Amino acid sequence: MIEKTTHIPDGKKERKNQPVIHYLEAEYLYFPTTDLRCPAGESCVVDGQYVKVGELIGTRNGGFFTQPIHSTVSGYVVGFEKKLHASGQTVDCLIVKNDKKYVLHESCVSRTDEEIDALTKEDYIQIIKDSGLSGLGGSGFPTYVKLEGKQVVHTIIANGVECEPHLISDYKLILERAHRIIEGLTYAMRAKGAKKGIVAVKKKYPELYEVLENARHSFMDFDIEIKKVGNHYPQGWEVDTIKSATGIKVPVGKLPAEYGVCVFNVATLYGFYRAVKRRMPMTERFFSISGDGIKSPKNFQVRIGTPVRDLIQMAGGYTETDATKVLISGGPMMGTALQSDDLIVTKTSTSLIVLDEVAVQTEPCIHCASCVYSCPVDLQPVQIMNAYKERDKDALNDLGVNKCIECGLCSFTCPSKIHLTETMRQAKRFIKK
Ligand code: SF4
Ligand code: SF4
Repeated sequence: MIEKTTHIPDGKKERKNQPVIHYLEAEYLYFPTTDLRCPAGESCVVDGQYVKVGELIGTRNGGFFTQPIHSTVSGYVVGFEKKLHASGQTVDCLIVKNDKKYVLHESCVSRTDEEIDALTKEDYIQIIKDSGLSGLGGSGFPTYVKLEGKQVVHTIIANGVECEPHLISDYKLILERAHRIIEGLTYAMRAKGAKKGIVAVKKKYPELYEVLENARHSFMDFDIEIKKVGNHYPQGWEVDTIKSATGIKVPVGKLPAEYGVCVFNVATLYGFYRAVKRRMPMTERFFSISGDGIKSPKNFQVRIGTPVRDLIQMAGGYTETDATKVLISGGPMMGTALQSDDLIVTKTSTSLIVLDEVAVQTEPCIHCASCVYSCPVDLQPVQIMNAYKERDKDALNDLGVNKCIECGLCSFTCPSKIHLTETMRQAKRFIKK
């Protein structure tokens, strides 16, 4: 029987009603000098040097961009150590020993409204570049590169949909910082010259709509609308969010800016506020630990650079069962399996899910077509799987495997429990070789 899956259990109910624990005092903070997007990097400080909150301590280098690295505490640089990044990569990290005085760097001085009114588009690009802001919905793409685009943009969308199950970082951020997110949205509108701003949130969270609507009233000089969009998965995928929020259909593989739209995650827009108004990089974020393998699941607000092992301890540690623990960085649909818990919180980290491993028997494909029917980009996962088994690059290209957004729906819907999404990832890597 064919099943089209668009609604999945979101597992957020327990998470969103739990309070946030503020853990901002880790002894040592770890800052990656490389990551998936930036394979090279260097520090600009030396061992024993005193650094302050917001101070530049290094740079990561990507193919066509750079990303500054800032300290999120004051204290002393004490060397390097390898740690796990949210992407599952082991990376070199610069270590700062926290002196718990949180001395702000001299550059972190708020701008006046007059100074902000005088900013040009070029100024915004430079401010966002210097702040190191990147797509905090998980993409990690440098925000200033989006600002540099030459296309005429009429609408900026603040994406607050967060459709992955279990994740509540954006939910908590909207509840606590709605005003600042809208202020950040006004800066993004000015930076792109956009006349319209839309904040998209799921229909089923009226409490988010309410706080955003209240916040919007402080910015009546701007045409900003709070829009309730669908609850389905993957509603937070840029193409779906744009269609629901504006009616514009952006073909898969095309840039939204070519259609006059630019999308930023709500956390990125909060980062806009901090960079423009406070002259501060992102120093903190929400992070949750959940799953049946952890004793006491918790939501945290932490400094970027915090070791996740500290948080696992605060969540009571692992449940004492015989089952092997499965660790996932991010959400259960699109997250990354980890080999160890020696993980650090980075700007794009959202969550750690700890599960007791359950043996799942994979059965042969029964040709039910549920995976085909559920795929939001109209791929044929089962055909792609067969082409990958044959290592047939031409067939993989013809089947458009590169369009796969790795949403996880094909694996989720498969009655034979075939790991289709992982095969899609491997096939995408294979055709690049
Ligand atoms: S993971 Fe890729 S192939 Fe599978 S449903 Fe999502 S987009 Fe389609
Ligand atoms: S791979 Fe799974 S979902 Fe797809 S056709 Fe086969 S059994 Fe059905």
